[in-house]
Amino acid sequence: MKRRLFVTTALPYANGRPHIGHIMEYIQADIWVRFQKMRGHEVYFVCAEDAHGAPIMIAAESAGKTPRQFIDEMRDARQQYLDGFNIAFDHWHTTDSPENVELSLSIYSALKANDFISTRTIEQFFDPVKGMFLPDRYIKGTCPVCGAKDQYGDNCEVCGSTYAPTDLIDPYSVLTGARPELKSSEHFFFRLSDPRCVNFLREWTTQTNRHGEPRLQPEVYAKTQEWLGTAGKGLADWDISRDAPYFGIPIPDAPGKYFYTWFDAPIGYLASLNAYFDQGKARANGELRSFDEFLAADDVEQIHFIGKDIIYFHTLFWPAMLKSSGRKVPDSIYVHGFLTLNAEKLSKSRGISIDPLRYLEVGMNPEWFRYFVAAKLNGRVEDIDFNPDDFMLRVNSDLIGKYVNIASRAASFIGKHFDGQLAYRDERSLLDAARATSTLVAEAIEAREFGKALRDVMAAADRINEAFDAAEPWKLAKEPARHADLQHICSSALHGFKVLSVCLAPVLPATAQRIAREFFGLDRDFVWSDADSLPLHITPYKHLMTRVDAKQLDALFESPAAPAEAPPLPGGVAISDAITIDEFSKIDFRIAKIVDAGYVEGSDKLLRLTLDAGEGRHRNVFSGIKSAYAPEDLVGKLTVLVANLAPRKMKFGVSEGMVLAASHGDEKQHPGIYLLDPHTGAQPGMRVK
Ligand SMILES: [Zn+2]
Repeated sequence: MKRRLFVTTALPYANGRPHIGHIMEYIQADIWVRFQKMRGHEVYFVCAEDAHGAPIMIAAESAGKTPRQFIDEMRDARQQYLDGFNIAFDHWHTTDSPENVELSLSIYSALKANDFISTRTIEQFFDPVKGMFLPDRYIKGTCPVCGAKDQYGDNCEVCGSTYAPTDLIDPYSVLTGARPELKSSEHFFFRLSDPRCVNFLREWTTQTNRHGEPRLQPEVYAKTQEWLGTAGKGLADWDISRDAPYFGIPIPDAPGKYFYTWFDAPIGYLASLNAYFDQGKARANGELRSFDEFLAADDVEQIHFIGKDIIYFHTLFWPAMLKSSGRKVPDSIYVHGFLTLNAEKLSKSRGISIDPLRYLEVGMNPEWFRYFVAAKLNGRVEDIDFNPDDFMLRVNSDLIGKYVNIASRAASFIGKHFDGQLAYRDERSLLDAARATSTLVAEAIEAREFGKALRDVMAAADRINEAFDAAEPWKLAKEPARHADLQHICSSALHGFKVLSVCLAPVLPATAQRIAREFFGLDRDFVWSDADSLPLHITPYKHLMTRVDAKQLDALFESPAAPAEAPPLPGGVAISDAITIDEFSKIDFRIAKIVDAGYVEGSDKLLRLTLDAGEGRHRNVFSGIKSAYAPEDLVGKLTVLVANLAPRKMKFGVSEGMVLAASHGDEKQHPGIYLLDPHTGAQPGMRVK
């Protein structure tokens, strides 16, 4: 039976580049979607930028751009990551789009008409200098529990306590340093505590989907029941509005009020699909699809792939919003864990990370990473660990040593003695064995048990290699009388190779494409049923895939290169010759705020910093800190600038000064670059002496 599927991954927030965790999620969904397409199902796989909210508004303002320009740049930058890792969304949209505005307003007005919207006055911190209400992450202060300074408004990174921003001791605005004031404002709420929502969610979370499988994974189901609490007492109404200034969709008949970005973000799933349909690209049997009909159709399955950090939004808010506005609800939410590096949680701020672009830049094959991720993934919500030795072993011994090896060995005999022609005996048993393998693998991929699918593939590869070795084809080749045997054993191995290539195609799309078109001479990519037929000829074997070289992994995790323009600082080097106070005072150090930071195209060392040193203009400074910092982690931070250093023309533009950073004299042995960070209270433009 032909299925119709609408599949998404979580919308990334448009204020930063994709990190390796995003890539992992896209790969997981992409494998599943490619598999469904190979099975002949009708699938639409879409995503979008989550474009609204205060952080984007502030980042765009600091960069001297409109939010729209800012988001467009982010979207353009994202494409090279998707292309780089062979991730094939049908469409990538943005929540800052006419389709999303229209759908959000339509859902909101239905919620209102059905009496699911209420208003309430709440007190919130307000920055009197900036003139805006502050999101929790823009308020810092002293932890009320342990007394640690500079902790965020919602939780303490030192002792792990969570609290309300109003509990902070000596709170201050991250934007201006001003002491925030409590101010009251009317907010709009989605009445999640309404018994109609609670009853629906109890039913929806507990139901099986149309295939008789639980809608939610067991650990996700358990979480939702905890939140729903006994008699649904756990659910609070959800604050869906924010006050101006805010970059978002204005709430009708409520001047100065906007939808909170989390309200319209999931609606962006629908908007992205809508935009794709409106472009006339969604066709089945040549017939143009209508978005409204498709979305409302009973047989269409709506599936969201997400990370474990956003379960609440996708298993409570989102289905309740859809149901309460009279729309169809999602069929399944597929939740994955996080990617760790050597069992440590990936952190953008220092060291413990894999930079996806760096991975591609050092010449590593994206299909290795796809294979590795797939080998680690299962249908549960478990973290998966990237360990470089494990990575090398899986790619080199499984993928190259077992799978690719079959083709390279068998093809050389077929090319040399039989002009590429294949011939079989007992075709029936070959086809039965192939069917058994492809069925097993299909079941595992369907259930997102990718690790099991690859173990099944490798077990089959072992059997093929063993049979090939046992027949000793190198001996048969020397006896012309036994060439029929040789042709049979090599043909059987190559048939097996084709079956495994079909099974691996969702994981290794680029490799499988070459195998289908170049090696087996098809005029199209593999479909799943190609596992059920015997290939009749091959073209001469060309090298399919190289091994991982340990040097590439070294380069991926290479210690930071020396800062491009900073002289070596003490730490492993002798103290420099003495200078006088007059000589010292010639250097004008200023506190500067990093209002924007970005990558520099063509440079693997530099970041471009836009600095505010209190001069009423911004400065552009290049700094050799790319290895240590992600740009988005620097925005909003203060640092120290050498303000009177003569401007320097560099390959990428003019650098107007230099920021100060510490590093060891011997950076090969002691990697790490540390930007100077003034104590709280310092303001841009203050002199450092
Ligand atoms: Zn604390």
